[in-house]
Amino acid sequence: MKAEDCDWYGGKVPGYTYKMGDDLDYVIREAYQLYFGENALGRSAFKSVTKLEQSIVGFCLRLFGHDGTGAGIFTSGGTESIFLAVKSAREWAKRSKPSATKPNVVMPVSAHAAFGKATYYMGIESRRVALGKDYRAHIEGLRAAIDGNTIMIIGSAPAYAHGNFDDIESLGELAGAYELWFHVDACLGGFVAPFVKRLGYPIPVFDFTVPQLTSLSADLHKYGYAPKGSSVLLYRTPEHKECAKFTFRDWPRGLYQTYTFLGSRPAGPLAGSFAAINFLGEEGYLDAARIMMSTKEKLVSGIGAIDGLRVYEPSDLIILLYDSVEPAVDINAVAEEMRKRGWFVGVVAEPVAISFPINPIHEKSVDGYLEDLRACVEVVRTSGKTAAYDEATYT
Ligand SMILES: *Cc1c(COP(=O)(O)O)cnc(C)c1O
Repeated sequence: MKAEDCDWYGGKVPGYTYKMGDDLDYVIREAYQLYFGENALGRSAFKSVTKLEQSIVGFCLRLFGHDGTGAGIFTSGGTESIFLAVKSAREWAKRSKPSATKPNVVMPVSAHAAFGKATYYMGIESRRVALGKDYRAHIEGLRAAIDGNTIMIIGSAPAYAHGNFDDIESLGELAGAYELWFHVDACLGGFVAPFVKRLGYPIPVFDFTVPQLTSLSADLHKYGYAPKGSSVLLYRTPEHKECAKFTFRDWPRGLYQTYTFLGSRPAGPLAGSFAAINFLGEEGYLDAARIMMSTKEKLVSGIGAIDGLRVYEPSDLIILLYDSVEPAVDINAVAEEMRKRGWFVGVVAEPVAISFPINPIHEKSVDGYLEDLRACVEVVRTSGKTAAYDEATYT
């Protein structure tokens, strides 16, 4: 069945997949299988599942600058973390801001599509505000969108489309001034940024050390290298976490209570995440960060050396965008040629540019990528080929 799939183990898929090493793969698969049949809904039956979750949440709170009085939930992915953050903000506002009878959420347009999904599912108005010229949240634009019904504001650290950090400290001040729930979406970069910072790169502040920050999402199944179905939603206090809770008694089976969207929940991702965190440890994540930053340098200089191409600046972390500055080289046609050679190529819609989310597996495929890219640009230039923007890369 996999014959026509892109070869992600060979490093041909920037995005979707994340891999650190074969030894880690082995360990997380073993851990996952140990919990293959357990149900994380059944806390009283499977006490170790609660221990796994507490251990993972504790590690993440410390990583993101919390003093230990916070709380968190292990979720099935970034989308569920975001869904629960929006749901929590709504419950919080019911008490703290009863005048907000038609709640809305204000965010930069670069906030992940999952916020659109969450607000749509919950019937909450979403206000997406244009970015500044630097492809980051436009603080004054966001301020202008806030009114008496605004309950929540969002920042990304970094955002998926352009890979840039919003100014989280300024957003925090805005949240404080209007008493808004402030969520930081670190789904993508959460397990990279703290380590890249330790390597000495300038990474802006984005975690719980920002005093107004209420909740933060970070995906273990991305740069935490855990199995798919792993993310955390972290809260400033246990009271904030209580806003995610759903309690139900109106049926013959008695009390039913969950903090997640799912009822029956796989426990394998919890075991796999625990294994990844403990097998890699901070040293392992630091190694991954080091590998990615040197791969990024290779890509930046390699792409920059190809006539007609331009790398976008700034690139804060591990997403690289590049486009064409030569009319004869159509960037969508370049993407199509690269696909013919087996590469998965994602294209950003605004600005139209090829996106390369780097992960450690690309250390071994980066030379091949640059070689093919050079050849594809030449094919497009000499043939004069053009192509339409392909929407289908993120469906
Ligand atoms: C991936 C991602 C999400 C959504 O996460 P899923 O795991 O795909 O549900 C949200 N925000 C950002 C910044 C992301 O990169």
